[in-house]
Amino acid sequence: PSQPRERLRVAIQKSGRLGDPARELLASCGLTWRESRDRLFLYGESLPVDVLLVRDDDIPALIADGVCDLGIVGRNVLVEHGLERAATGRDGRLTEWRRLGWGACRLDVAIPDDQEWTGPEQLAGLRIATSYPRTLARWLEEQGVDAQPVLLNGSVEIAPRLGQADVVADLVSSGGTLRANQLEPVTTILESEAVVAGPDHALDDGRQEIADLLLRRLDGAVRLKE
Ligand code: ATP
Ligand code: ZN
Repeated sequence: PSQPRERLRVAIQKSGRLGDPARELLASCGLTWRESRDRLFLYGESLPVDVLLVRDDDIPALIADGVCDLGIVGRNVLVEHGLERAATGRDGRLTEWRRLGWGACRLDVAIPDDQEWTGPEQLAGLRIATSYPRTLARWLEEQGVDAQPVLLNGSVEIAPRLGQADVVADLVSSGGTLRANQLEPVTTILESEAVVAGPDHALDDGRQEIADLLLRRLDGAVRLKE
């Protein structure tokens, strides 16, 4: 039961890979803003759209809990959050309102480069280091393979060398980071890109109208870039 709001609130990553492009995209929609002193909030001036600057991992929960209306986040984070939320029986389903075509990466399984890849069944009984345990578990189930996800929130790629895990399931764009750690990406679990995430229903108050206007401009801006 959130309070009635006549301004739209959009969450984006504060820094990191998606922060600047998200901010630039909103600016290219004609948004201008005043920045709060702590730099966590952009108060929209040209449109009733405010921007919250947060860690990308927090974006889905902010939307699901109604604190924000929309967010710009990687599909990888959105999918993991959705599976986690469903598994723990909470509501607040989110969907992709738009695909943005940048921030592309894959969630790949990577194995030590001195081993040969014969297929998913090779992973049976292994420990798989990942920051995406639910997405990995779903894929393993689809493959009919029983393995053990090991949750690591950072430096997943060094886990095999440390003996924490046998293989990894990690985000890859070029594969350079994995190869520098003697790991070879062998199969893809999820294809990701930046998306506009929102609830699976229309917004209340006047916010859907504001969102429609913003998305129309966003579609124009994305098309211009193509
Ligand atoms: P935060 O401090 O906000 O938690 P972070 O370190 O989790 O930041 P980044 O490394 O900035 O996040 O990645 C943000 C998103 O960028 C990822 O969730 C993913 O969707 C996308 N991305 C694109 N290419 C890559 C890549 N090569 N490695 C990791 N993420 C990538
Ligand atoms: Zn993060």
